[in-house]
Amino acid sequence: MSQKPTLTTSAGNPVADNQNSLSAGPRGPLLMQDYQLIEKLAHQNRERIPERVVHAKGWGAFGTLTITNDISRYSKAPLFGAVGKQTEVLARFSTVAGELGAADAERDVRGFALKFYTEQGNWDLVGNNTPVFFIRDPLKFPDFIHTQKRHPKTNLRSNTAAWDFWSLSPESLHQVTILMSDRGLPTDVRHINGYGSHTYSLINAANERTWVKFHFKTLQGHKHWANAEAADVVGRSRESTQEDLFYSIENGDFPKWRFCIQVMTEEQARQTSFNPFDLTKVWPHGEFPLIEVGVLELNRNPENYFAEIEQAAFSPSNVIPGVGHSPDKMLQARVFSYADAHRYRLGTHYEALPVNAPKSPVHHYHKDGAMRFFANNPNPDAYYEPNSFNGPAQSAEYAEPPLPIEGAGDRYDHREGNDDYSQPRALFELFDAGQKQRLFENIAAAMAGVPEFIVERQLGHFDKVHPDYGNGVRAALEAAK
Ligand code: NDP
Repeated sequence: MSQKPTLTTSAGNPVADNQNSLSAGPRGPLLMQDYQLIEKLAHQNRERIPERVVHAKGWGAFGTLTITNDISRYSKAPLFGAVGKQTEVLARFSTVAGELGAADAERDVRGFALKFYTEQGNWDLVGNNTPVFFIRDPLKFPDFIHTQKRHPKTNLRSNTAAWDFWSLSPESLHQVTILMSDRGLPTDVRHINGYGSHTYSLINAANERTWVKFHFKTLQGHKHWANAEAADVVGRSRESTQEDLFYSIENGDFPKWRFCIQVMTEEQARQTSFNPFDLTKVWPHGEFPLIEVGVLELNRNPENYFAEIEQAAFSPSNVIPGVGHSPDKMLQARVFSYADAHRYRLGTHYEALPVNAPKSPVHHYHKDGAMRFFANNPNPDAYYEPNSFNGPAQSAEYAEPPLPIEGAGDRYDHREGNDDYSQPRALFELFDAGQKQRLFENIAAAMAGVPEFIVERQLGHFDKVHPDYGNGVRAALEAAK
């Protein structure tokens, strides 16, 4: 048997006894001098960090993106540079509303966050398993999330709050229909699609911009649970998704997704009947067909869940030359709020943690703060900018063309000129009879305890999508009485 390493304190001092505290006598009391005991208890007290306000419960793994199709006419990012090119990826999936200890098999949107460790820094694509979202204006975001979390008095989740907000915000209809459909309760994350959801931009070598949507289509097929099946699963295991992802990878059954894009020229964006920067809308495939880019494969479990998944920090602010943002208001808010959440949750220098650190060189002038552990710039005199000591400097070659901005600064009514019903109708019409019936029943179940006037307001929206939608939910509500 190989010799065991000597146990030490965190400062590296050898520990003689890890079983018995230092005490005045066999019956106590303890001595203040027992710094080993104090260090152990102090560490235990600090083992938790604030959980994410949203997307707290998560599962993740590492993998590879392999490019299968040349899209260099749209993007100059070296990541897309050549067929066969491989880039290391970290993926974190999550539910949205549940806390850190919530059960996995819950009806909820799934987060689908990717970090690509490219040679020009990290590109984070922080998406969901749905192509759209509940709202299109970020001013409504904290209110929306409050309806998904606990009531301030009862400390319980509230169907009333959810449907009150949704029925007063008809832009939510599209996402609500997806959430209440079969795909709203996936068995695990190998059997879901991922969507960048927001509109982003691709910039090519000639510095021309194309708007883009990112799609990851599961190659495992779609699998979901009915409500009753999920209740059974939760009764047996609250960690069903973690088990599925971890053991699939551990057993060499690596999940894969077909990575595709949809593209739209700036001119086309001026012509579409819908706002292409509205997060409650998709770009119809008929008009904007999917273009294959590559294959995403997850093939390595983290060695330490806390260090590599709980501390993983994804932010849409992390983009690389060749990929940029768009006027999408929800994206613009997330560019701020995700990085801000990590500064609060993990600390000022969260990007320097090994799982978040780029594999490419980092040169900035951020200075001190908690956990400053990275090296100075090569020349320590170059600690401000501009300087005369060869410190890192800006490179104009990375400038994007200016964003096309229409109008002057104002609070534009996000409801004006927006059709909240046609795209949910297109989705509803894709469902077969069985899918429609389950949609009606899932909605009726989620409306348990909701006051009649709120139910009626929401039924009015379903009627506008399709009379069969409203009537189907009415019948399911009647049957559930
Ligand atoms: P298409 O018929 O070309 O594509 C339908 C899309 O719907 C496919 O991407 C399919 O994903 C997806 N889908 C099927 N069932 C569900 C479900 N229960 N929940 C969510 N997505 C589902 O349609 P269009 O592009 O013309 O769009 C029609 C409607 O399809 C849209 O209004 C939207 O609701 C939905 N949709 C559209 C997407 C898009 O980017 N255009 C993306 C996802 C949904 P898969 O191929 O994996 O089966």
